Amino acid sequence: MRSRVKSIPYSCPNIAEEDIEAVVNVLRSEFLTQGPVVPEFEVAVSRFTQIPYCVAVSNATAALHLALMAMDVGVGSRVWTSPNSFLASANCARYCGATIDFVDIDSATRNISTIYLREKLEKAKILNELPDVVIPVDYSGLPCDLAEIRDLADEFGFKVLEDASHALGATYQNRPVGSRFADATVFSFHAVKIVTTAEGGMIATSNAEIAERVRLLRSHGMTRDSQIFRNQSDGPWYYEQQCLGYNYRMTELQAALGLSQLRRIEQMHAARMSIADRYDRALSSAPLILPPRKSDRVSSWHLYAVEINLIRARQSRREVFDAMRAAGIGVNVHYIPIHTQPYYHDLGFVASDFANSMEFYGRAISLPMYPTLLASEQNRVIDTLLREI
Ligand SMILES: *Cc1c(COP(=O)(O)O)cnc(C)c1O
Repeated sequence: MRSRVKSIPYSCPNIAEEDIEAVVNVLRSEFLTQGPVVPEFEVAVSRFTQIPYCVAVSNATAALHLALMAMDVGVGSRVWTSPNSFLASANCARYCGATIDFVDIDSATRNISTIYLREKLEKAKILNELPDVVIPVDYSGLPCDLAEIRDLADEFGFKVLEDASHALGATYQNRPVGSRFADATVFSFHAVKIVTTAEGGMIATSNAEIAERVRLLRSHGMTRDSQIFRNQSDGPWYYEQQCLGYNYRMTELQAALGLSQLRRIEQMHAARMSIADRYDRALSSAPLILPPRKSDRVSSWHLYAVEINLIRARQSRREVFDAMRAAGIGVNVHYIPIHTQPYYHDLGFVASDFANSMEFYGRAISLPMYPTLLASEQNRVIDTLLREI
């Protein structure tokens, strides 16, 4: 055994007594599913994000899938996203039978490059292969260049599905992410994310039609709303399936946890911001590239991902990573570029297709970042990193 020093994870859910109580209250109540708490959570997220319609689902992967379906993505459609993301950002297009393609990141922001996006759109236009939907991903919680992406969407006629799985609480041009430039925005409430429901996701949109379609799709495509029945009702028990949907519902337990967590989001965000500030100050002269900041947006700081300056550092990324892990510090790497996965290789992608994402992947290390990370623990992370790099 190396030592008994407590190990520090890279992320850690923030569960308070009041969260536990909220979940237990649901267990004692009449409804475990399809009760009043899911709609309450939806309203709370809608208020917080300033996005009119919010629809809760079982996870963000389901949210991405249904949002694409609601945007009429199917066989023959084209969807583009960033390779520097979690698998789900691309898999959702494949669920719909659409073709997927990627646009490389801007090395400065680690988000989809609007320069490459424009280039690719111009080429695609000539070939008559424009995308139907582009999925920008707010990597680490830093919003993408959403205004530029919106302009391109209007010019080239595609829809924007923002994968803000990391970015609940982030702002862009002084407004919550998703509130203005995207056709729909997805948030994740997975255990490591900003607000958790253990597993959970949300589709947020100002488009009433998308919201309505997603609501149908999350529950088998069925409705009990007599206003929209296509057939004559047989009686009070009558329900109607109008399209092929899924069971992607969120439970009342999950919603109660999310609702309770959401009450602390500002406090949790403030804690993440001060941890980021502290890392920035302590690491400013190390052989590292620190996470980008931009004056017109505020990150939710889901991740604090540094890049090793491979020319100035004494050790390789692998060596630094191993040394940190050996010291009980739960560093991680986000992300293995999606297009390098065997499944995507089989679809014809090769590693060198997206060079910036590959370079970023070769240098990236995510340091521990969560609201309850103690200053003493953060000092240990900083000291170990400065010693090893
Ligand atoms: C976590 C994550 C997802 C998937 O979220 P789940 O709720 O786990 O399905 C999708 N995209 C990104 C960028 C993520 O980080």
